[in-house]
Amino acid sequence: MALIVKKFGGSSVATPDKMRAIVQRVLAGKQPGDQIVIVVSAMGDTTDDLVALAKEITSKPYGREMDMLLSTGEQVSIALMAMAFREAGHKAISLTGQQAGITTSDAFNKGRILDIQAQRVIDELKDGNIVIIAGFQGITEHGDITTLGRGGSDTTAVAIAGAIHADACEIYTDVDGIYTSDPRVVTNAQKMGEITYGEMLEMAKLGAGVMQPRAVEMGSRFNVPIHVRSTFSDVQGTMIQEDYSMEIKQYLIRGVAEDKNVAKVTVLGVLNQPGHAYKIFSELADQNIDVDMIVQSVRVAKEGTTDITFTVSRSELPAVRDVFAKIRGEIGAEDILIDDKMAKVSVVGAGMAGHPGIAASMFGILGDNDINIEIISTSEISITCLIAEESVDKAVQKIHDHFFAESEA
Ligand code: ASP
Ligand code: MG
Repeated sequence: MALIVKKFGGSSVATPDKMRAIVQRVLAGKQPGDQIVIVVSAMGDTTDDLVALAKEITSKPYGREMDMLLSTGEQVSIALMAMAFREAGHKAISLTGQQAGITTSDAFNKGRILDIQAQRVIDELKDGNIVIIAGFQGITEHGDITTLGRGGSDTTAVAIAGAIHADACEIYTDVDGIYTSDPRVVTNAQKMGEITYGEMLEMAKLGAGVMQPRAVEMGSRFNVPIHVRSTFSDVQGTMIQEDYSMEIKQYLIRGVAEDKNVAKVTVLGVLNQPGHAYKIFSELADQNIDVDMIVQSVRVAKEGTTDITFTVSRSELPAVRDVFAKIRGEIGAEDILIDDKMAKVSVVGAGMAGHPGIAASMFGILGDNDINIEIISTSEISITCLIAEESVDKAVQKIHDHFFAESEA
C-alpha cells in the first residue's frame, strides 16, 4: 500500500490516445490499496499557444488576466484525464489548484505556494478516487487565480506530495532521467541513478532544464524523494533525494550544465561613490528582475569611476532598459552596453569543495579550445563561466569529456 503522486507533463498528455496510455499504465501498476494522485500539465503546446494568443491582443503584461488564461490549459487536461479513468472503469475526480487547496502569493505569473490545505484531496482518495490535480496553478488569498511560472507543474506535484506525506513523487517526462549533461548536446552524457537535492537544485538553476528549480527546493524542504523517469518505459530513472543511498565513491563533479538564456549588461563609468551599486540593484529588485553574476571593477583609465557588469535572463532586457532610462542621471553612468549572445557553462558537484584543481582544469579546457571567459562565479558546489553563446555547446562537450572520461555516473 503506497501513497504516490505522479506528474505527467504536456507532451505526455498531448492527445487522447496518450492520455489513455497513461490510464492503462497507472492502472496496471496500481496495487490494491494504493492511493494515487496525478498532477498534469496542459496538453502539448497549449500553454505556448495561449501565450501567442494573448500576444495577438496585446504586448502589455496583464499579469492577472494572463494567469486566468494560462490556467485554462491544465483544466482541460484534468477533466479529460478524469473521464479517461472513468471510461476505463476506475473512480476518478479532477480538482483545480484551488479545489486542491493550493494558496499562493499574489505575484501573477510567478506565484509561490504559501500553503496547501489538502483535506479535499485526502477525502477523495479515501473515497477510492484517483485524484487528478491541475498543475501550475493556485489561488491567492483574495481568490485570484495565479500560475507558478513556466514548468510549474513539477512544483505543484512535489508540493502536493509534501502536503499529503506521499511515499514518493514520480515525475514522468520524455527523457528517462537526469543526465550528467544535456544528451542532445553531449553525446556521451550518462544517466545518474541518484543525485542530491543540493546538486540537482544547482544544476537546475544553472540551466539543466529537466526540473523546475523550485520543485527541487520543495522536495528538499519536505524531504520528498523525487523519481524522474520516462513516460514511455518502465526503466528506473533518477532519484533526487537528501543523500546518496550507498557508500559509493565520492563524486567530484556530478554534471556539466549550460544556459543559453543569458544577457550581459555593463554599466560604464558609474561614479565610484558609496550607494551607487545599491541604487542600481535595488531598482532592479523592485522590478522583480533576477540578477545573476555581478562584477564591479575600478576603471584605471578614468579616475573616480567604475564599470559594473551583471547578467540577467534575456527576457528581462526590456525591463532592464527601462530601469536604466530612469536612474541613469542619478548614478552618473556614461552608457550601458548589452550583449545578448552570451551563455553560461557550469560544473556542479558537492565533492568539489576542497579540491582546488577543478577550477583550473575547467579554465584550462576553455583556454585550450580558444574560448574566452568573460566572468567567473562560484558557489560551494559549482563553478560557472560566462562565455560566448556560439562556443557553449563545444565547451560543455569538452568539459564533460574531461571530467567524465573514465568515471561513470
Ligand atoms: N503548462 C505549463 C508550462 O508549459 C506548466 C508546465 O508544463 O509545467 O509551462
Ligand atoms: Mg508544459
